[in-house]
Amino acid sequence: MILLDNYILESVASMNQKPIHDGIDSLTGLMEMRHFLQTVNEIAVKDKEAGKYPCRCGIYFNISNFKLYNNIHGFENGDKCLVRIGEILRSLFEGDFICHQGADHFLVLAEGQRAIRRAGEACEQVNAFLGNPGILLKAGINLLPEDPAPNSLRFLSIFFDKAKLACDSIKREMGQSLAYYSPEMGKYIKDQDFILENFDRALKDGSIKVCFQPVVRSITGKFCNSEALSRWEDPDYGSIRPDVFVKVLEEARLIHKLDTFVLRKVAEVQRYELDQGIPCVPVSVNFSRLDFFLMDPFEEVEKITKEFHLPRELIAIEITETALLKDRSVLSRAIGQFRDAGYEVWLDDFGTGYSSLNVLSDFRLNEIKLDIGFLRNFNEGKKRLISSIILMAKTLGLHTLAEGVETKEQADFLISIGCDKMQGYYYAKPMFLESAIDYPGQREIRVETPAEQFLFNRASAVNVITDKAMAFFLYDGARLSILYANPACLSLLDDMDYDGLSAANLSLSDPHIPLNEGIYALAKRARKERDGSFIYRDKGETMHIRLERLSEADGLTLFLAYLENLDVRASSLGLARYEEGLWALASLYNGIYYIHRDQGTLESVKTYRSGLAPGESLPLTEERLHDFAAGNIHPEDRARFLAFLKPESMVEAAEKSPRHAAVTRIRQKREDGAWQWVIYTAVPLRQAKVKDILLVIKDDTLMDPTEDEEFMKIYFDSIGSR
Ligand code: C2E
Ligand code: CA
Ligand code: CA
Repeated sequence: MILLDNYILESVASMNQKPIHDGIDSLTGLMEMRHFLQTVNEIAVKDKEAGKYPCRCGIYFNISNFKLYNNIHGFENGDKCLVRIGEILRSLFEGDFICHQGADHFLVLAEGQRAIRRAGEACEQVNAFLGNPGILLKAGINLLPEDPAPNSLRFLSIFFDKAKLACDSIKREMGQSLAYYSPEMGKYIKDQDFILENFDRALKDGSIKVCFQPVVRSITGKFCNSEALSRWEDPDYGSIRPDVFVKVLEEARLIHKLDTFVLRKVAEVQRYELDQGIPCVPVSVNFSRLDFFLMDPFEEVEKITKEFHLPRELIAIEITETALLKDRSVLSRAIGQFRDAGYEVWLDDFGTGYSSLNVLSDFRLNEIKLDIGFLRNFNEGKKRLISSIILMAKTLGLHTLAEGVETKEQADFLISIGCDKMQGYYYAKPMFLESAIDYPGQREIRVETPAEQFLFNRASAVNVITDKAMAFFLYDGARLSILYANPACLSLLDDMDYDGLSAANLSLSDPHIPLNEGIYALAKRARKERDGSFIYRDKGETMHIRLERLSEADGLTLFLAYLENLDVRASSLGLARYEEGLWALASLYNGIYYIHRDQGTLESVKTYRSGLAPGESLPLTEERLHDFAAGNIHPEDRARFLAFLKPESMVEAAEKSPRHAAVTRIRQKREDGAWQWVIYTAVPLRQAKVKDILLVIKDDTLMDPTEDEEFMKIYFDSIGSR
C-alpha cells in the first residue's frame, strides 16, 4: 500500500509546515490529520466495546477546481472560503469528527443514515456559496465494513482513501455531488497495489510490452505512422488496462520510467527495421504531463535518438491537450525545444480539454489528434463539428489525425472532408512488433516513404470542402495519377460516366493515347512552371483542367487540380469554336500582356502598336516604367499611369470592383505622335496567393471624333476636355 501510505505521509508532511496546536489546524480550527486518525481509531474501538460497530461512515470532501477559485479570488479569499466550509461542516456534523486534511480536502467520520443526508446538504450549501458551476464541492462516502480489519491507523487510512476514490470518481460529473465507494473502485486499489509492487519487475521481465497501432494517410491509404502504446500482461495477475496503470504511475510519480521505457523500445524497433531494410514509419510516443516535471523529456529523446543513430523525423512526441492547458509555460518551452531540433509534436486527445483551436495556435504543434469522442454517436451534428475543426486546423497550418475510426462510414466521411490521417480499429488494432511488421503485407497496404511524407504534408493545407471540383494528382515524371478527388470532383467524374476514381485513373494511365497527350504535356509544363491549364475533350465534354504544383520530392510532384466542365456542348459550341471564341474576344483588344508576379516580368501575348513581340518579356521595374511613361504617356496622366501599374494596386482595385477588373484611361502617344485615349484593364488571375495579372489594352475608340459627335460632347464634358 505504498501509495496510500504516501498519501497520508504527504498530507502529514504538508501540515508540518504550518503551526499545529494540539492537533488542531490553525486555519479552520478543525482536527489535523494525525490527531483525527488517532481519535477515529479510539472511537472505533469504543463502538466495538459498546457493541455498536459498524454505525458510522467516512466522508471525504474535495472541491473540484479549487485552484481556479484561488486564481479568480486570490489566496486570501481562498483561505476564507476554506474557513467558511469548515463552519458549514461543523454546523451540519455536530458531535461528529471533522478534519481539515490540507488544501481543499476535508474528512468526516459521522454516525448513521443522517450523515449521508448531511453530506448532500453540505455540498449544496458550499456550492451555493462558491457560486461557480465549474467549482464544486464533492463528497465520497465509504461505509465501515461489517467485518473490519483490525482497527489500526493503516486500516483507517485505506478506509478514507476509498472515500476519496469515490469522490474522485465524480470529479468531472457536473450534476453529481455524492458517490459511494464500491468494490469496483476497490479493484482499482487492488490493481494499484499490484502495479506499484510489481512495476520495476514488470519492466524487466517483459510483462510490460510496447505495441504499435498503425495510422493511415487519407489521400493515399498508405501506412504512414504508428503510435506506441504500452501493454501490461502478467502471467498470474492477468492484464491491466493502460489507462489504469498509467493513472497509478502518474499518481505515484513513476510515469516517466514507463515513458522512457517505451521510448527506448521504440528506438530499438526503429533501429532494427532500418538495419533489416524493413520499411519504417515515424512512431509517436505518449508523454505524460508529469514527465515534464519528473525528467527532461527533450534531453531523454535526444539521448536515445543519438544512441540509436535515428533521424529525428522518426519520433513524434504526443502531448495531451489537458497537459498543455494545465502547464502552459513549461510545455510551451519544451515544445519549442523539440520543434527547433526537428521533432514533430502532436496534440493528443484534442477535444477533451475544452480549449479552442485558437488557443492552441499559441503552441508550435504539427498535428492534432481528434479525440475518439468526436466519432462516438456519429451523426450529422458531429459531422459538422468535425468539418469545422478540420477547416480551422488547416487555416492554422496544423495536420489532422482522427482517432478511433471504426467504420467505413466514418472513414469515408473523414476522407471527404480532408482529414489527413486516420487511426482506429477499422484499419488496425494496436499490435505487437511481429504483427506490426507483417501488417502492410497482410493488408496489401504500402508504406509511406519519407519523400512521400514530405510531399503529402503539403496537401494538408488545402481546403477540399467546396463545390469546386478539386483533386490531387501525383506525377512521377512518367505517370500521372489521381490520388484523391473531393466530393464535387467525384460527382463530376460520375457525370462523365467514369466508374469512380480507379476508372478515371485507368484511362489516365497511358500517356500515349491521344486523349492524354495534352494532360501529360500540361503536367510537364506545370511541374516546371508551377502551374498551367488546358482545355480538352473527353467523352464528348469540353473540360478545363488547371494544375498547381504543391510540392516536389524525390522525382515526385504533387499537383492540386481544379476541374471544370465548360459545358460548351450544351451551348452548341465545339472546342474549335470555343477557342475561336476566345480569339474573337482577344481581337477586341489591341494588346494583351501577362504579368508574372513572382518573376516581376511582363510577357506579351498580343502586341499593342509596335511594342513587345508576342512571347517576348521584359522586367517590370520602376525604372523601365518611368522611361516608358516619359516617352509615351501624356504628362498629365503619367503619375496616374505609374500608380495604376503597380501590381498590388491593380489587384486591390480589382478586388474592390464588381467586375473584378481594374480599369483606367490614359492618353498614350500614337505612331504619328498625337495623343490617343487608351483603356487599360487589369484582371488578376484567380490562382495562387500571389496573383498574376492579365493586362489588356485597347484604344478608346470613342475618342475618334468622327464616330459619334454628340456622345463625344457628353463624354468630354464628363471627363474634362483633352
Ligand atoms: P491514447 O493515447 O488516446 O491512445 C489511443 C487509445 O485508443 C488506445 O487505448 C487504443 O488502443 C485505443 N483505440 C485505438 N483505436 C480505437 C478504436 O477504433 N476504437 C476504440 N474504442 N479504441 C481505440 P489504450 O492502448 O488502452 O491506451 C489508453 C490510454 O493510455 C492512451 O490513450 C494513452 O493516453 C495512455 N497510454 C497508453 N500507453 C501509454 C504510455 O506508454 N505512456 C503514457 N504516458 N500513456 C500511455
Ligand atoms: Ca496517444
Ligand atoms: Ca488519444
